[in-house]
Amino acid sequence: MVVGGGIAGLAVARALLAGGWDVQVRERAAAAPSTGASLGMWPHAVAALEQLGLRDLVRAGTVAASSGELLRPDGRRLVHLEPPGPARLVARPQLLAALAEGLPPGVLRWGAPALSAAELPAADVLVAADGVGSVVRRDVFGPASAPRPLGTVAVRGTADVPPAGMSETWGAGRMFGTTARLDGRTNVYACFRSALAAPAEAADPQELLRRVFAGWHAGVVETVEHLQPDSLDVRPLLDLRPLRSTVRGTTVLVGDAAHAMAPNLGRGACESLVDAVVLARHLVAAPDVATALRGYDRERRRPAARLVRASRLLNRVSTAEHLTGLRDGALALTGRVLAGRR
Ligand SMILES: Cc1cc2nc3c(=O)[nH]c(=O)nc-3n(C[C@H](O)[C@H](O)[C@H](O)COP(=O)(O)OP(=O)(O)OC[C@H]3O[C@@H](n4cnc5c(N)ncnc54)[C@H](O)[C@@H]3O)c2cc1C
Repeated sequence: MVVGGGIAGLAVARALLAGGWDVQVRERAAAAPSTGASLGMWPHAVAALEQLGLRDLVRAGTVAASSGELLRPDGRRLVHLEPPGPARLVARPQLLAALAEGLPPGVLRWGAPALSAAELPAADVLVAADGVGSVVRRDVFGPASAPRPLGTVAVRGTADVPPAGMSETWGAGRMFGTTARLDGRTNVYACFRSALAAPAEAADPQELLRRVFAGWHAGVVETVEHLQPDSLDVRPLLDLRPLRSTVRGTTVLVGDAAHAMAPNLGRGACESLVDAVVLARHLVAAPDVATALRGYDRERRRPAARLVRASRLLNRVSTAEHLTGLRDGALALTGRVLAGRR
């Protein structure tokens, strides 16, 4: 029984079905999303997609992550950015559609929210893939496993301008980033300290971005003007304190339910795919469920916890309000040293 038909839940279903398990996925949404921003897929996530049988998606449904620049608000360069190996970018709706494609009828139930862990039908394994606000985690792991606010807000969306390569601009308390989309437009993400925006401003995210990034270099200001209003998503960011275990009895956490992290390293969805592959490998190979879940926890929990900590740090540094001159000086120096080595 898998609760949540997002990236983690669908990937788990695919991997377990391929291993001969009977799977049911309960998803609270009535249907798959038709719009959504791009996700960076690091090389290990691309490998996981291939193991999940999605080689066609990688070949034809993604775009290569290019090199780019980390800039100051006036447009001067701080550091040249290189993608981590052969990384790809994929739009979330395309990724979800590919993961759901080919699932036998009846496996994925739309419009089926789990209201509590107790009301779920009995199963050999209960996989909590219901995201950062997981109901299953709350019920099975208790209130101490609740997510914590990062004190920042993220806005993402699509701009009708041709992509100019990967770029991030860091200022005081705020950052603005762009990557390419397969459809020839630009994927936009921005993050800023929560105190910079009143909650009511979330109703008009484009106007909010105009105000927060006023006076920044033309690449930012013009991209904000070309944002598609109906593509914009605003959300306060949360992450999870690393847990002592991702397993309790026959319940196991995967994806954001296990290790929600700040988006700054672009690793949450990547790790969800890896969770799925690893969990299925253990469940298929181990002599019993308890051994399999122990093996999964041993393999996945610590690496994911390290990423939660690193992402939290990067979220703070990229939206630092004070000592930004020192931060930028250190970044520029690091960039020069790295360029010298290259
Ligand atoms: C601004 C931003 C940018 C990001 N960029 C990247 C990136 O570039 N690369 C990357 O790897 N990651 C990125 N991420 C992280 C990524 O979006 C998440 O890590 C990923 O979506 C986690 O997938 P998931 O399936 O675990 O959780 P979710 O995507 O949250 O899916 C959970 C699913 O469970 C369903 N659900 C919830 N509760 C219930 C319930 N009670 N009953 C039934 N169904 C339920 C939800 O409807 C949803 O479909 C980014 C995140 C943000 C916020």
